[in-house]
Formats: sequence, structure tokens, C-alpha cells
Amino acid sequence: MGLTLTEKIIKNHLIKGNMTKGASVAIKIDQTLIQDATGTMAMLELEATGVRSVKTELSVAYVDHNMIQEDFKNPDDHRFLQDMAAKYGLVFSRPGNGICHHVHLERFAVPGKTLLGSDSHTPTAGGIGMLAIGAGGLDVALAMAGMPFTLIMPKIVKVHLTGKLSPFVSAKDVILEVLRRISVKGGVGKVLEYCGPGVKSLSVSERATITNMGAETGATTSIFQSDDITREWLRAQGRERYWVPLYPDDDAVYDEEIDIDLSSLEPMVAKPFLPDNVVSVKEVAGTRVDQVMFGSCTNSSLRDILTIAHMLKGRRIHPNVDVGLSPGSKQILLQAGAEGAIEDLIAAGVRILEASCGACVGMGFAPPTDGVSVRTINRNFYGRCGHASGKVYLASPEVAAAACITGVITDPRGICIEPYHFEMPSNLIIDEGMFIAPSPEPERVTVRRGPNIKPLPEMEPMSNKLDGQVLIKVGDDITTDHIMPAGAKFLPLRSNIPAIAEHVFEVVDPDFSKRAKELKGGFIVAGMNYGQGSSREHAALAPRYLGVKAVIAKSFARIHLANLVNFGILPLIFANIEDYEKIDRDDRLVFDISQLNVESQAVLRNLTKNMEIPVKCPLSGDDLDVVKAGGKLNWIKLNTSTN
Ligand code: SF4
Repeated sequence: MGLTLTEKIIKNHLIKGNMTKGASVAIKIDQTLIQDATGTMAMLELEATGVRSVKTELSVAYVDHNMIQEDFKNPDDHRFLQDMAAKYGLVFSRPGNGICHHVHLERFAVPGKTLLGSDSHTPTAGGIGMLAIGAGGLDVALAMAGMPFTLIMPKIVKVHLTGKLSPFVSAKDVILEVLRRISVKGGVGKVLEYCGPGVKSLSVSERATITNMGAETGATTSIFQSDDITREWLRAQGRERYWVPLYPDDDAVYDEEIDIDLSSLEPMVAKPFLPDNVVSVKEVAGTRVDQVMFGSCTNSSLRDILTIAHMLKGRRIHPNVDVGLSPGSKQILLQAGAEGAIEDLIAAGVRILEASCGACVGMGFAPPTDGVSVRTINRNFYGRCGHASGKVYLASPEVAAAACITGVITDPRGICIEPYHFEMPSNLIIDEGMFIAPSPEPERVTVRRGPNIKPLPEMEPMSNKLDGQVLIKVGDDITTDHIMPAGAKFLPLRSNIPAIAEHVFEVVDPDFSKRAKELKGGFIVAGMNYGQGSSREHAALAPRYLGVKAVIAKSFARIHLANLVNFGILPLIFANIEDYEKIDRDDRLVFDISQLNVESQAVLRNLTKNMEIPVKCPLSGDDLDVVKAGGKLNWIKLNTSTN
């Protein structure tokens, strides 16, 4: 029986387990990436493993998230990352070099290799044929320490593309269509593998837009074949030597199939506040727009910026619309400048922001009160734009550019502009001066830690009997942004767990942290897909610091489930999802750990309501022991030596 692309790469990297669907497999990780928002903690975790240098083929530390330097905290984090990279053998990508996923795709991604990143949009590198997976910082730290990464063997979905995109319809519309069909939960436990004749019509940048936002379906990752288009792209990057052909076998067997005729797609948007809230632009045309933000790891490629510049050239942005653009990387910014696009954008009234995440993560470019912001980014969660009243519509560069011109959401096909045909320049501006290589004398590197960089909190092993109150009860699709908000107020606290823990659930329940501390911890009760969104492990680590013992949910998002395990919080699933109604906030719950075996059913007692509620533990392999040990670092110390 033939193999899919995903199976081929997993097979080549398999260290433990067999590739039976749903079974646990451990794979070798070739490359890792971290960024500053998750990376300082990942570096502290790497340090805690006791290894002296990274064991991967390549590990890169990027600075792209916390760029605002209004006090010492963020620059201290940048300096700490630079020192730790020099000491532990990572390449350091300086602030200004660009967004980790863009820069990694340009300079380091290799078809057929594995990449683990402490960022949920790591699958961007799937656009070049890499098996690229987002994970919590601790999992990435352990991969840097040379340990395999364990995942559940995913189902493989064949996304069969036919036809060709029409003018003013682009890669963003493809992934919005996938989200419209399968929702933000539809990819959980799966890899989306793009095949079919339509693939040949998509450049690597367009493929990367699609694999990037596959993260919003909850998928383990997304991947495209490595073909002549990939080869050309690598050649333009001066890296053709890394090209290998990579295709699924003709007789590969897929678990599910989605058919998309690219020619039939039309411009779409995702309305607030979920990326699967997708409608055709026509349905919301005429909605007043206050702000447009171009950028993010999803849509700030050279192709995107040249397209936007083409549409805005010789025009002025609408007087009611504030417009900002963050290029994906320094290379893209320089190249777009060389092509005259930056000049055209500035002339039109666009504000050129840094080559960074910036506004995408709620920093530095928020819309006004109750404002509508059309963004080319990947997430429109509540509060993600920097404040709770902003309403973000996710759109393609073409739709966002049309809104700049008209001041309202507009179908770009209705504007009298010639379509733009992007051709990748054969010789890009390549300047690797913003990378700093690891120190040749790591033992002589002194790591400078600012006062905001606090040591990792100690974690006690779990006691046999969990007893406490329900601290909060939340509904379906709670994101890590709800649990541990991003934005300029919170991101600088990522290296300081006691300080950031003050803000857990702040956007939905401002008293949560105070209550959790007063009650010395307790339980969280949640609906479906708890912890979707970003990979931030602080959404597990900070609640654990506050004493959260267990989360009982209808279901969990993949990365967050792993993060709960890594920090010793017990995840439990309602055996009957209607039992969610049998628990309220402040109820006292008791759970006896000793009754629990992996996958078996157990009983949670609600003393307040005098009820017994059947629950299951959704863990596999050693994960239950990891939780009982109080988290992965404790478990590793008990079980292995990493030196
Ligand atoms: Fe940065 Fe936004 Fe991409 Fe996250 S989603 S890596 S914040 S650009």
C-alpha cells in the first residue's frame, strides 16, 4: 500500500511506535524554532534539562513578537534570548529580521525534514513540503535537548485541488473555504495534505498561506508536495541544493477527502470572532471599515505586498480608514522597496510598520472603540486586536486593499483595476546579516537576565486526591487568548510567571486569579475544543501556578492538551457531554487519581450537588505518569538523564 506525504516523512523520522492511526509515535526532530513570546520560557526549560547545547540539525531563536520597547522588559528578553542562543548553539534572528515563519521559510525550511516550533503557525513551512508542527515551549525545549517528539499518529485528509484561482481570489480564500467547510475543530487529530492538479497553480508563498492558517482548523499540520515550483522558489532563495522531490504515492490511502475546485472560489471573509465564521464578501459588502491591517505570517509575502501595492498605486486610501502594513521579513521589505512597491504604498497613505508580528498579536496598531478592522491575519478572536470592542474581519490582501479604497467591505472584483500577476524575481535580495551564529566559545558566554526574567516555578507532584471548587465554567471554543491574553500589556510578562498569572482569564473573568489564589486552586470546567489557538504554554503554566488541578472539558485542542500534561494539570473529558450541565461554578469537586488508568472511565464526585459524573482521561503513553509527577520536567528528572 502506498504512502501519503505525511506518512513518508514520519516513516523516515520514526523512533518509536508504529504508524497505526491513533497510536502514539515518537519522531526525530531535525529543526526547531522559537520566538520571543514563547522562547524565553522555552530557553529556561532547555536550561532546566541540563544539556549543554542543542542536539538538533538546526535551531533558531527569533525575535518578532514583543517588539515594543517602552521599558526594559522586552529588550531584556531579546538580550536574554541572544545570550542563550549563543551559549546553547542556536542561530539568533535579530529583531527587524522578520516574522519567524516567513524567515524560516526563506532561509532554513527543507522539504522532507521535520520542524517543531513553539508557535502554532509553524505549519507555514508545510508550504515547502516540510512536516512542521507547532507545540508548547517545553516540547520544543526537549526536542532541542535531543529528545523525540511524541504525537498521536494523525488521520490524513486529502485536500484535492482542481482548477485555478480567478483574478482577485487568492490563497487566503482557499483556506477560508476549508475553514468554512470543516470549522475550527475539523482538523483536530488530522493532517491536511494538499494534492491534485490545482497545486501546480500555487506558488510556495501561496501554499504557505494555506498551511499557515490550517492551524485554525486545529490540524496537527498541513503540507504540500515538493515539486518544480518548490525548486524554483528555493533557487530564487539561493538554496536550490536543499530541494528534494516529494510526492505522495499514487496508491496512497487517505482517511478523508475534501475536493475544492479553485476556479469556483470567490472572495471571502471570516467575521468576528472565529476564523471559521466565513461568508462570501458579497454577504457583508458595505460594512463600514475603520482600519485595515496588512501583514502577519499568513499574508505578508512579496506576492501579497506587490499585489496590494498594485491595487493602491496612484490612489489614496479612504479618509475614514487607517491602514498599516507589516512586511513578513526584511528580505520582503527590501525586495518590495526595490520593486517600487513601498513607495507606492506610502504615497497611497499606508503606514509601513516593522517587519514583525505587531498588530497581529495586539501590539501597536489597535482599531478605535467598536471599530471594524479588516486584517489579512489568521485570527480574529475576541480581544486579539488589542482591546475587547474591536471587530476583526479576516480577509485576503485583495479584499483588504479594496476596503482601503472604498472605506467599506468590498468585493475586489467590482473595482476597476487590472488583475496583478506575480512573478517571483529570479534573484532575490539575500542578506543574512541579521542572523547571529552560535558562539564558538559557548562556555565563555555570560547570560544576562533582566529583573523581569524569573526562574521556572517549582512544580509539586500531584496528590492522589484532587479536592477543590470550580473556579470558572466556560463554554465552547475557548482560546488560549481567553485563558492567557496576548497584547502589549501582557506579552512583556511572559518571562515572569508570578506576574503574568495575575491576568489569567482576565478578559472573561477579571477576578479569576484572585479567587484561585484565595481558594488555593481548584478546577476549570469547559466546553468543546478548550484551548484552541496559539501554542502558548503560559495558558497552562500560569493556571498551574495558581493551583489549577484539573480541567474537565467536552474536548481539548491538541497543543493545549499537551501543555496541560507538560505542567501537571489533569485533563478529563466528560464521558457524556450533557453532564457538562451538572457542574456549576463554585461547586466542590473531588477526584481520586488512583482510580484512573489511561483511556479508562472514572468517577468525578460533585459534593455540592451530590452527584457522580463519569469522566475519561484523554491521555496516552506516559502522559498520565507525567501529570502525576507534576509535569514533564519532574518526570524527566525521575526517569532519564539528558546529559
Ligand atoms: Fe506572529 Fe501573528 Fe503569525 Fe503569531 S499569528 S506568528 S503573532 S504574525
